[in-house]
Amino acid sequence: MLKRNIGCGEISDNNVGKNVIVNGWIHRKRDLGGLLFIDLRDRSGIVQVVVDPANVNKDQIDEIHSLKNESVIGILGEVKNRLEPNPNLPTGSFEIMMKAFEIFSRAEDLPFNQFSNQDVDETVRLRYRYLDLRRPEIRKIFELRSRITQSVRTFLLKKGFIEVETPILTKSTPEGARDFIVPSRINRGKFYALPQSPQLFKQILMVGGFEKYFQIARCFRDEDLRQDRQPEFTQIDIEMSFVEQEDILNLIEEMYKELFEEILGVYVETPFSRIQYIDAKKRFGSDKPDTRFGMEINDLTDQFIDSKIQVVKAGIENGKVALALFLPGGAALSRKEVDNLKEQMVNFELGGFIDFKIKNGEIVSSFSKYLSNNERAAILQIAKPDDLMLLFVVDRKNDIDKVGRARIFLGEQFNLIKRDVFNFLWVVDFPFFSYNQQEGRYEAEHHPFTMPKLEDLDKLETDKENVRAVAYDLVLNGNELGGGSIRIHNPELQKRVFRAIGLSDEDVEKKFNFLVKAFSFGAPPHGGIAFGLDRLVWIMNGGKGSLRDVIAFPKTTSGVCPLTDAPNEVSQKQLDEVGIRIKNG
Ligand code: ASP
Repeated sequence: MLKRNIGCGEISDNNVGKNVIVNGWIHRKRDLGGLLFIDLRDRSGIVQVVVDPANVNKDQIDEIHSLKNESVIGILGEVKNRLEPNPNLPTGSFEIMMKAFEIFSRAEDLPFNQFSNQDVDETVRLRYRYLDLRRPEIRKIFELRSRITQSVRTFLLKKGFIEVETPILTKSTPEGARDFIVPSRINRGKFYALPQSPQLFKQILMVGGFEKYFQIARCFRDEDLRQDRQPEFTQIDIEMSFVEQEDILNLIEEMYKELFEEILGVYVETPFSRIQYIDAKKRFGSDKPDTRFGMEINDLTDQFIDSKIQVVKAGIENGKVALALFLPGGAALSRKEVDNLKEQMVNFELGGFIDFKIKNGEIVSSFSKYLSNNERAAILQIAKPDDLMLLFVVDRKNDIDKVGRARIFLGEQFNLIKRDVFNFLWVVDFPFFSYNQQEGRYEAEHHPFTMPKLEDLDKLETDKENVRAVAYDLVLNGNELGGGSIRIHNPELQKRVFRAIGLSDEDVEKKFNFLVKAFSFGAPPHGGIAFGLDRLVWIMNGGKGSLRDVIAFPKTTSGVCPLTDAPNEVSQKQLDEVGIRIKNG
């Protein structure tokens, strides 16, 4: 075999006048009347090979001619300086005069040219994912991903963490999504669940005395796939013993500081800002606020309680709130542009808004004649010159997130978002419970092993809405990077919490008995956190394109892997072995 002794992209002055062997893909061929030029490509780069009839016989030339692009060959030849260097190619000053070659594999006609900007359907691209992976700009994403993973790993190992793998075939875990289930052949009628996260195992590792655990863990959640969700994803999963919230937050800040410095050369200010969940919702209409721009939500309900504007007054009387966004420079928008914005609000399921322009210290609006002096003063106190005030009359609980989404939309539409900053933000003091409308019951907002705030313990049974958890999320530029909590380590409190979320003793016995039992043999105080690695890589790669771009073999939004065609049918024999019959309809 013509085994390579140098990479295509590594050819340099040192090789001039010497023979080299290169291996790679035929990137391009050009026939310039007698001379055949081949651009040969491997991971290190591209080099030009010259096939000259003076050195090679006709049959060989014909054979090379017959090769299609992306065929894989080996070439032996002498490196020469090029008469006309190509400044666009790192090896552009050299070429290899071919003396011998070996064909390793012939490529068929390609389904699409992965190097052109051809608009190719994503499913087709994913079916031939290996072609796209050959593109250096795609491979760079995975080099970045690999460096990120290694950096995190090195940091955590340095801090005394132990990397432990936890089972993939396991029992249902409590992240609130649907489990993927796997039938057991040996234990007919029984099923494993794929882990939604290593949550239970990492807590048990704490009971096992490991004190500091981490894992780059694969998680599986059988949810309806939204645009940017994958049924399986990777988490940086962490758990620590004998710690409080502060210790975990500090460690993570240090981790991200080092990571961003090492990988992106970006200086990250610590400590990160913090906001309480309740304020994040109020001020930004989101539990993952994008703080790269202001335009916070102002609650003007008190000021507008006696409004002469009928819809406002009636709304407030019916328990709604009057929320205002002040769009900088918006006073310059035309009537038509403002109307357009109103139409856009349908996308956020917001009925619309009342608009007020702030011009030369005056409030200009078809509604301004209805404003009282107090209302006028309230607006002018917040407004900056040339703002457009958008006043929404909405339901606080159900609509605040919609106003938050409208805020982001306006931020993007009017270029208010600083693009070159990384704003890390901790959101803390999450509510302990969330109300599940469909099932008409409260469930744990994070998961049922989360510690309620001690000062809220007496409300656990009586005032669920106001119980807060020792739970935190880390947000970066409006993206949730991850979250975690301090856990309950007292079996009695754990039982009380299970009861508070409506789990009967029987349910607990069936689902989590092993955990409760483990806790009865000495459990250290502990807590942890987990980060979505895919999203982190996506952000560090510039936040462009889709999450699928940073996953080597992603699934489509319908959960299909176009490369392998999974999921697919299995044979009758396989079904029989696990005792399953497929129901039609
Ligand atoms: N297991 C949690 C999750 O996957 C994270 C944690 O609490 O550590 O979201």
